[in-house]
Amino acid sequence: MIIQLSPDITSDQKRQLFDQVTSLKYKTNEVVTQFGTYLVGIGKKKFDVRSIGHLPGILDIHIVSDDFKLVSSKWKTEQTVIDLGDGVKIGGGHFAMMAGPCSIEGEENIYKTIEHLKANGLQIMRGGVFKPRSSPYSFRGMGIDGLKMWYKAAKEHGIKIVTEVMQVSQIEEMHDYVDVFQVGARNTQNFNLLDELGRIDKAVMIKRGISGTIDELMYSAEYVFSGGNERILLCERGIRTYERASRNTFDINAIPILKEKTHLPVIADPSHGIGLRDHVSAVALASAVAGADGIIFEIHEKPDQALSDGQQTLDFAQSSRLIHKVNKLKEVLG
Ligand code: PEP
Ligand code: MN
Repeated sequence: MIIQLSPDITSDQKRQLFDQVTSLKYKTNEVVTQFGTYLVGIGKKKFDVRSIGHLPGILDIHIVSDDFKLVSSKWKTEQTVIDLGDGVKIGGGHFAMMAGPCSIEGEENIYKTIEHLKANGLQIMRGGVFKPRSSPYSFRGMGIDGLKMWYKAAKEHGIKIVTEVMQVSQIEEMHDYVDVFQVGARNTQNFNLLDELGRIDKAVMIKRGISGTIDELMYSAEYVFSGGNERILLCERGIRTYERASRNTFDINAIPILKEKTHLPVIADPSHGIGLRDHVSAVALASAVAGADGIIFEIHEKPDQALSDGQQTLDFAQSSRLIHKVNKLKEVLG
């Protein structure tokens, strides 16, 4: 069950409520986020909500049969909108296109990308400065200095930053330079990282694990929400299957399923999803049709020279065509 507490609930009223919930043999978890205070009750016993609903200090009470609670659409029926400021919003009808290189490579790469985004009306740039690479000998990112260089340029041009955080110790140094912290597919179940991202007031985009189920992605989001941060995006980026013709198998099914299960915005990453430059746009368009709230894709001024993921990276002409098609599609889909 989820009980939304009134902001002016007294400590006596709260104690009375907790006692009542505990008497039903429900475990009580108090969750305080930037937007509200909730009591999440975990238990099995059937009971009449009126036995609790009449108590003072309660705004709302919901029985949620899903194992994940706060991220479930069974509790919150209206879609969550992630507001990044300056009119940049994701979810609830605001379709977001986010693009940029796999890895931030330097000043020229940053400026060329920003110029391309602005020319195409995009406001959010992706890019990794801390890169999880399968081989330790591959380029592992420019680190915090690269992020600071990027931030300076992005701020100057009103561009928002999405970038991956790989470990808890990086959160603090990155914090002021990031709009959306990305949790990579290799870290979807790094519960310590998720706990810490629950303690900050920045948006968090959680990618689906390489072999993760949809439910596991939802649980990861529940960690962040129950830690105190409601500003969460979910991202389908393909999963590992027996198929070797593509880098991953983009699970288009996940989009409508997630949209049904959760009120959080659902983003598609067709670049990692298929891993083949010539087919990224098709998967991106399919995701928009399937109901995604946005797409995130890799672009580069010279994809063949990109320091990572060049094989799945669009050049600027391909990117412009994709953006144009998505905009047309949005008109058709309404
Ligand atoms: C990325 O976005 O460049 C990335 C490494 O993504 P993923 O965690 O989905 O592999
Ligand atoms: Mn990449």
